[in-house]
Amino acid sequence: MEQLTDSVFWMNTYPTFGMVVTSEGVIAIDGPMKPSDAVRWREFIESKGPLRYQINTEHHQDHIASNWYLKPETIISSEVTDADFYKSLVNAAEAKERMLQYDPDCTPLLEGYALRPPDITYRERMTLRLGGKTFHLICAPGHTRGQTVVHAVEDRVVFTADNLTPAYNVAFHSADVWKWFQSLGMLESLDVDWYVPGHGDPCRRDEFPRQREKMLDIIGKVRDLKDKGLGREEAQDRVHEIYETDLNSPKLGERLTMLRRGGVGNIFDYLEEHPSGGLTDRTDPVWPNI
Ligand SMILES: [Zn+2]
Repeated sequence: MEQLTDSVFWMNTYPTFGMVVTSEGVIAIDGPMKPSDAVRWREFIESKGPLRYQINTEHHQDHIASNWYLKPETIISSEVTDADFYKSLVNAAEAKERMLQYDPDCTPLLEGYALRPPDITYRERMTLRLGGKTFHLICAPGHTRGQTVVHAVEDRVVFTADNLTPAYNVAFHSADVWKWFQSLGMLESLDVDWYVPGHGDPCRRDEFPRQREKMLDIIGKVRDLKDKGLGREEAQDRVHEIYETDLNSPKLGERLTMLRRGGVGNIFDYLEEHPSGGLTDRTDPVWPNI
């Protein structure tokens, strides 16, 4: 475990997750993907106080697999994350199968494993007060459409989830491509000392230009292919040209390629729309003059 401030702790074992200690208990932000890490993290949390809240910043497997191990009193996510909750891990059997792939010795820890969805959801923003501390949970669409960022006001720390990923390339398969840039602007303007990202070590405000550059690089490559007249699937077939580098990618192999293909397709779709937002889904019919 690493300590960031008096009461903020974090670990980077894929994903990066953290916790804030208050006099009335602990708030955890995500948790480790590996069962063996999750058990150790839970023990550490318990040494600091009861786990009152766990916040799922998104619905992807790496952020929600630990829900069952950490045994929080209450899990919170955005409404969108809740709606997508079973899209990454469809059921407990599949979750266990995947956990065995990346944590081969975890069999004894799988008994009774269940997926645990959020207990409370919010739509745009919610404020949580615990032990005299204030936490703003803000739905900040980006890496996923329901991304939650957690601003721990008194600690001057914000947990950005995968909207900021210094140690990793940018994953677009569930992304709200254009709103992601708006969310980065909001995060960048917060009065904080530290940004705890979704993958990578805590960083400072100077990480934001790099993040934007990584995003614009991938989007630009997809745009070039589209401008050349390639179709959606043809662009997806060029995924290895688009993602030339692997910044510390874990060994996800074929799955990583599949997700990246999904990301290219998603960007392709967003390029149909103006970054300021498309029309809403309804337009008026023609009302004939009769
Ligand atoms: Zn994710």
